[in-house]
Amino acid sequence: MAEDETDPLSPDEAFAALGNETRVRILRVLGEAGDPLSFSALYDEMAMRDSGQFNYHLEKLVGHFVRKTDAGYELDRAGRRVVESILSGAVTDDASFERTPIDERCDICGEPVEAAYKDGGIELYCTECDGRYQRRRRSGGKSDDGYLGALPLPPAGLRNRSADAVSRAAWTWTNLEIMAMASGICPRCSAPIESQPDICVDHDTETDTCPSCGGYYAVSVGFECTNCTFSSGGAGVLAMLSDTRFLDFLTDHGHNPIDPDSTRAVSAVEMNYEETIIDEDPFEAEFTFESDGETLTLTVDADLSIVEAVRE
Ligand SMILES: [Zn+2]
Ligand SMILES: [Zn+2]
Ligand SMILES: [Zn+2]
Repeated sequence: MAEDETDPLSPDEAFAALGNETRVRILRVLGEAGDPLSFSALYDEMAMRDSGQFNYHLEKLVGHFVRKTDAGYELDRAGRRVVESILSGAVTDDASFERTPIDERCDICGEPVEAAYKDGGIELYCTECDGRYQRRRRSGGKSDDGYLGALPLPPAGLRNRSADAVSRAAWTWTNLEIMAMASGICPRCSAPIESQPDICVDHDTETDTCPSCGGYYAVSVGFECTNCTFSSGGAGVLAMLSDTRFLDFLTDHGHNPIDPDSTRAVSAVEMNYEETIIDEDPFEAEFTFESDGETLTLTVDADLSIVEAVRE
């Protein structure tokens, strides 16, 4: 523990220490440099007129976000996290794009899919069918017909990628987050995450989306971090994505849930399954997946833990 002689800052103090443009720039310069910078090299990079001001702000960071070693100044772990999160939101001009055709087919009807990017996520729409979820149309806004769901992706995910590549990256990013959640680990802070199944007892999919729950699946799952504000959720299958019996089935058919070139096929298997509720109390349900003529039936309990896996 010798490396940090200073007491850790409280979160309020930490944000206060960062609430200054010069200090944030110091962190970015050190992050871009990669290697430790001497006082004079860092000062030159900052191109500031007043070395006293520069020194004042640098000292506010040392011991909390910046480490001073014999080789010079460098970011410590907290400083790297700050720079990473700044850069994950950094996009040149416009962190959004309108509905754009992508090289993907709707896994409900097989027709072309469009993607749009807004509010930190990719939204997927079928150009033909009603999609998978009902969504209220925003007044005056564009119709949300065909909404298939949204995948989170930081704005930096748009960098140097076509709409098609963005959507594939979003699947990989999403599946990695889901695997962490399904393993009980918060993808933001690593604390334990709790999962809660949600079952629609009057589920009816006559019209693609259920009038009772608005969803496509009767069994869904919600995840909530026990430490930070992170929460997420979706179709019940998400709770199973880290189970080796499900992963075996996917990989045996050549589908890798974290390979951007494979995620399209994975999503077709992952999001197109039959669900049968066998018992409501105690809860038991069956999920049947299909790929290349083989089926996998997973029987799950009230925690959506797999109690039996049968391949045919
Ligand atoms: Zn469709
Ligand atoms: Zn329902
Ligand atoms: Zn968390």
